[in-house]
Amino acid sequence: MLHQISVMVHTPAHSGLGGALTYESNIIHAPGTLVRVPLGSRELLGVVWDNAPAHTATEIAAPLQLRAIASVLDGVAPLSVHWRHLVQFAARYYQRSAGEVALAALPSQLRDLTTEQWARRLKRKPKAVSAYEGATQTIPTPTDEQAQVLTDIAAHKGPFLLFGNTGSGKTEVYLRAAQAKLERDPQAQILVMVPEINLTPQLEERFRTRFAPQWGADCLVAMHSSLTPAQRLKNWLAAHSGEARIVLGTRMAVFASMPHLQLIVVDEEHDPSYKQQEGARYSARDLAIYRGQLEGAKVILGSATPSLESWHHSRPATAIEPAGRYMRLAMPSRVGQGALPLVRRVDMNRQPYKTVFSNHLLDAMRERVTRGEQILVLLNRRGYAPVLNCNDCGWKSECPHCSAYRVFHKLDRTLRCHHCGFTQPVPRACPSCGNLDISPLGRGTEQLEEHLAELLADVRRPDSEPIRIARIDADSTRLKGELERQLAEVHAGAVDVLVGTQMIAKGHDFRRVTLVAALNTDGALFSSDFRAPERLFSLLMQAAGRAGRDASMSLISPCEMWVQSFHTQHPLFEALKQHDYPTFAEQQLQEREQATLPPFSFQALVRAEARSQEAAQGFLNAARDAGAALADELLVDLYPAVPMTIQRVANIERAQMLIECTSRKALQHFLAHWQSDLHAMRSAHRQVIRWAVDVDPLAI
Ligand code: ADP
Ligand code: ZN
Ligand code: ZN
Repeated sequence: MLHQISVMVHTPAHSGLGGALTYESNIIHAPGTLVRVPLGSRELLGVVWDNAPAHTATEIAAPLQLRAIASVLDGVAPLSVHWRHLVQFAARYYQRSAGEVALAALPSQLRDLTTEQWARRLKRKPKAVSAYEGATQTIPTPTDEQAQVLTDIAAHKGPFLLFGNTGSGKTEVYLRAAQAKLERDPQAQILVMVPEINLTPQLEERFRTRFAPQWGADCLVAMHSSLTPAQRLKNWLAAHSGEARIVLGTRMAVFASMPHLQLIVVDEEHDPSYKQQEGARYSARDLAIYRGQLEGAKVILGSATPSLESWHHSRPATAIEPAGRYMRLAMPSRVGQGALPLVRRVDMNRQPYKTVFSNHLLDAMRERVTRGEQILVLLNRRGYAPVLNCNDCGWKSECPHCSAYRVFHKLDRTLRCHHCGFTQPVPRACPSCGNLDISPLGRGTEQLEEHLAELLADVRRPDSEPIRIARIDADSTRLKGELERQLAEVHAGAVDVLVGTQMIAKGHDFRRVTLVAALNTDGALFSSDFRAPERLFSLLMQAAGRAGRDASMSLISPCEMWVQSFHTQHPLFEALKQHDYPTFAEQQLQEREQATLPPFSFQALVRAEARSQEAAQGFLNAARDAGAALADELLVDLYPAVPMTIQRVANIERAQMLIECTSRKALQHFLAHWQSDLHAMRSAHRQVIRWAVDVDPLAI
């Protein structure tokens, strides 16, 4: 007898098919089974799906009867109902096809290996569990705060927001909570997510050192985009089979197949990199909460500067309002008395015109370097200078393909567009008037590094060697392994002053840093992006957290964070000075509530790209008209289409339209129905190259 089987495949995003196709087979395959199926002239990887309303493969291809499943991928257990449910939810919530989400969540080699290669891959004997030969460790006794938090986690259902200062021992809490789960249940699996794994290479080591002695060196696998396809398949299979007890990964790991998942940790939960920025634009943090609920796994979100969403969700009950959905757990103290740095604000209005480092700051830096202490200088702009400028005619180094300036990179003397990548040698003279006097405007990390080398040329380290300055940013770490190498040098003390972008502020446990300086931060205070202050505050708090991690250093010289600003009295800096996230958050939340911005409303963006701005906006405004009646009914606000902040990239015009509603449910309802309007409008708007919906967008 022939059976009809739904199979989820990756159909093109705009086919409107939703991904599930019907095939026939003479045996029943359990939902979750991985199969290969024909589609047109190709053969695709697919996942047998629950009997979802499905389209037949013949609706796309010509033949009139159902086509047969080509083969089953042997040796892989079916994906669980929870996994399928998670995929289905993510697809619906983020307005993509389930097939796209499902297939993107699977390692590419499942798709790419031929049947023969797969058979060979399966024959490979699993290595005997390798004995662990790492360093032995002393496991610290929890502090009172850690013990209290662990008791709460054990006793309550969560989800938890672990609000712990930098250096308060959050990682130790994750380790202990994981340990408890592993010990209680011989199958339990744990998912630990971090924003960017290569920024914190020590973390993987810390987990491995802790768990390998008891559970073997293979108990932990990593999952992130810099693994090779073969590594990714290996790790995925280890998690899927239940062999790997711990998965440590970036946002993609939220879709890891883990049949016995019991605990999910989202470290630095506020970090924007948890939001996928292409394809299905999911938030791994939000999906983690959903997945935890779905599978009955506990979820811990951790941060010293939580996202305002999570902070709001974890609000305590008041006289008139019940508590939020999350349980807030606080760890205000740093372990080992390492003090938080004293924040010093330098009023740049009182400095001579064009001052880069105030004299006081320079003196403080010299003094510390002479004593053998390390310094971080944070400037969130890479390159030498953001613009090259002709002093005669006013020519600027605009990118011919984008509405942006090309950045001057001095090392290879190029003008490089950071949006489309267009690169040219720096012209000798002004391309517009021939003037030879063209000069950089503004300053990036490359120039700062050069400038500091001049300013500190006469300073000596305690060993009377000249001081060493290094720079870490996207340019200096382009080569594979370079970031790890540079970080190791900083850790080893080979670097005295580290200049860098936000990459240097995250998670590193630099022991000898006693001074952090932040330059040019004012832009974010008055940005049109309502999340800019939140991001700046968290960046500065994280950066401050790099200082004074070693209590014995702080005894010699109290650590400091210096902020140079033209607006030193701004409430953001006041809160920073007090290391007072709650006050900052309250003030921001009040502003958001008054303006009905998230978390007091829910947003989605539709972005459209076309050869002309008119075409892009035309599509969006037509979509707006099509949705107007339903939007009215559901109290959803549809704003008019506007150009994006960087309106043109690589000669493509970009426009966006904001959709807002105070009810998440109504917004979801609207989007689900409106999708078909958008798909249908495509044919009348041939000039639109692509469009996409971004639900809960991070940047507007
Ligand atoms: P966070 O993740 O909050 O920044 P960590 O967990 O990295 O903090 O802890 C900061 C430092 O304190 C680390 O060097 C860690 O080994 C140490 N530490 C954490 N908990 C304890 C403890 N209970 N006793 C002693 N040292 C601890
Ligand atoms: Zn000129
Ligand atoms: Zn460009």
